[in-house]
Amino acid sequence: MFKEYLQKLQDQHLLRRLRTIASSTGPTVRLDGHTVILLSSNNYLGLATHPAVIEAAVEATRQYGAGSGASRLVCGTLTPHEELETALARFKGTDAALTFAAGYLANISAVPALIGKDGLILADRLCHASLIDGCRLSGATFRVYHHRDMNHLEQLLTRRLPGKPTLIVTDGIFSMDGDIAPMRDIALLAERYGAAVYVDDAHGTGILGETGRGTLEHCDVETRIPYHMGTLSKAIGSTGGYLAGSAEFVAYLVNTCRAFTYTTAPTPAAAAAATAALRVIRQEPERRARLWQNRHHLAQGLTSLGFRLAASESPILPVIVGDPDRAMSLAHTLLTLGVYAPAIRPPTVPASTSRIRFTITADHTDEHIDQALAALAQAGRALNMI
Ligand code: PMP
Repeated sequence: MFKEYLQKLQDQHLLRRLRTIASSTGPTVRLDGHTVILLSSNNYLGLATHPAVIEAAVEATRQYGAGSGASRLVCGTLTPHEELETALARFKGTDAALTFAAGYLANISAVPALIGKDGLILADRLCHASLIDGCRLSGATFRVYHHRDMNHLEQLLTRRLPGKPTLIVTDGIFSMDGDIAPMRDIALLAERYGAAVYVDDAHGTGILGETGRGTLEHCDVETRIPYHMGTLSKAIGSTGGYLAGSAEFVAYLVNTCRAFTYTTAPTPAAAAAATAALRVIRQEPERRARLWQNRHHLAQGLTSLGFRLAASESPILPVIVGDPDRAMSLAHTLLTLGVYAPAIRPPTVPASTSRIRFTITADHTDEHIDQALAALAQAGRALNMI
């Protein structure tokens, strides 16, 4: 059974394999004995390798141990967890916050905690898989609206049954396209039709908005959106997920989210690293500025080379190739030229939109970007893509 299944994937050129990086995920990494430029990490601000963040993780491990020993509600809530939740609430400007072992776990348990069988969920077609799984697990009636299409969302809202609790679900920055949800329009429609809104800001947290609070700060709708979710695993440089809101909301989640209750608390190191990263985000705004400079440098370079870029507005810069084989060839050629950025294929992205999802970080230098663009020019010409 396994063999046939894997063979079928292989025949469709959709078989996936793990590759091991033998270094930290900085702007360059060690892969198969070579140093290559990494252009696909979500470590946007470079905080996974920031000395203060690493030191906080090491110190927490010394003081509190390598593991937490139990789930949060039994005896796994340690001082680093409480400190992180206080810091997150302060960062997001909310009364409270709750952390989960992963962003995935936050989504699959918080969405079902907020809406059940009698409810209606309206989700953007390109929402992250963890949100889609959360929507399915809730048992609510689940409809998708065309990507960022507010007319379609309004149509679905007008068709809902009166009195049915309604939840609009969206990413802040879309993970595979890099564009931003029209949060002001979504807030307006939600207010008009009495719906609640749940935003997954995994990719916006730390990088968008004047102080890095994310997509909702960027769109000036923080107080109009009740449910803010994000991850600690991208710009924040650690691992985990969070929800921020009122103290009552957090207490409700503590008492309802199965993926919070029935899993061991995150490691003290992960929690302390995230707290330190939030401090760095506040103290070193120049990292965010540098990230955006680098983003413009790479976007401009890709456009002037003639690559077909998705309509990105963020450090996620997808080059749409279409055919999965062609995307694999581009990734492979780039790797031989010293640039690591794997191809993204269905089912992660819709059919015929296989792509290389380039991402840039604050730690890339101009030389890294110029070198990567030279490799892209060579690979693109060799494969007749530009
Ligand atoms: N939401 C989005 C939009 C994501 O891109 C991801 C990670 N790929 C997640 C949620 C899951 O977060 P985590 O990696 O922390 O589980």
